[in-house]
Amino acid sequence: MPKTEYWQWYVEQFAPTEAHHHAIEETYYAGRTEFQHVAVIRTPVFGKMLVLDGDTQSSQADERIYHESLVHPALAALDRRDEVLILGGGEGATLREVLRRPDVARCTMVDIDGQVVDLSKRFLPEWGDGAFEDPRARVIIGDALAFLREDRESYAAIISDLTEPLEDSPSNPLFCEDVFVDIKRRLAPGGVYVLQASTAGFHNMRLHAKMARTLRRHYRFVRSFFTHVPAFDNDWAFLACSDAVDLAGLEAARIDAYVAGLRGENYFYDAETHRRIFSLPLYLRRELAKDGDVF
Ligand code: SAM
Repeated sequence: MPKTEYWQWYVEQFAPTEAHHHAIEETYYAGRTEFQHVAVIRTPVFGKMLVLDGDTQSSQADERIYHESLVHPALAALDRRDEVLILGGGEGATLREVLRRPDVARCTMVDIDGQVVDLSKRFLPEWGDGAFEDPRARVIIGDALAFLREDRESYAAIISDLTEPLEDSPSNPLFCEDVFVDIKRRLAPGGVYVLQASTAGFHNMRLHAKMARTLRRHYRFVRSFFTHVPAFDNDWAFLACSDAVDLAGLEAARIDAYVAGLRGENYFYDAETHRRIFSLPLYLRRELAKDGDVF
């Protein structure tokens, strides 16, 4: 191993006084697309990583923690899961996880940035693992906002795997109450909307709580869940929304049966993990119970 002074570093800055340094072994690509800055790098601990606008999107070493959490609790809650919609999800790993269920007839993925999708296919083929070539995949390059306004189909599950809604990010307009309402209109009866919903770290829960508060105005059940994602150096939160099913109460037998119906083996998610990720610490429950602003 070279001494630290000889490495190049990718420094993810979380706040003016907080950062995580990753040594870079190789840079496969770094440049700007029409929508964002993209870097594909390799680091000794996390393997290959996709970084958009300086924000880690996923890493080879632990992307399954994030993607299994995003996809499987929602799909496990459904009786029928024939049509699924993914907003964003450029790397193809969310698509991969959805298509591991043979009873998904079609999965539509809408990502605004064709270059991110192409770079992922080229440098991160492990993420898609053949999902882009699956005849059940319908990949649309376009703005999810426009798609939601024009599309008239309904989906058993809608999975939002968008970038963080930073001020100048193309995902920013999708985090607003009107869009949450549009999404609900696209859900089939009994459907579930699940979204990656920012951090649940004790020092930065406000954005997550704001999303939860907004969504609670529209769904009977809105559940936060989270897990530590080492590449994000943070506890990462998700929100599961439904009028029909409370995901926090899914029975172990139902989850076991769902997992047994997946192609291949899970790395992270099973009935025991489900209990852990839906069990929230007191400080987060208190934050979620507060009144406050909405989108
Ligand atoms: N795991 C992630 C994270 O940590 O934020 C999200 C992963 S995925 C790479 C995010 C994708 O959202 C990107 O490929 C980006 O192009 C896409 N995206 C951002 N804004 C979008 C929009 N308005 N419509 C569709 N896709 C969008």
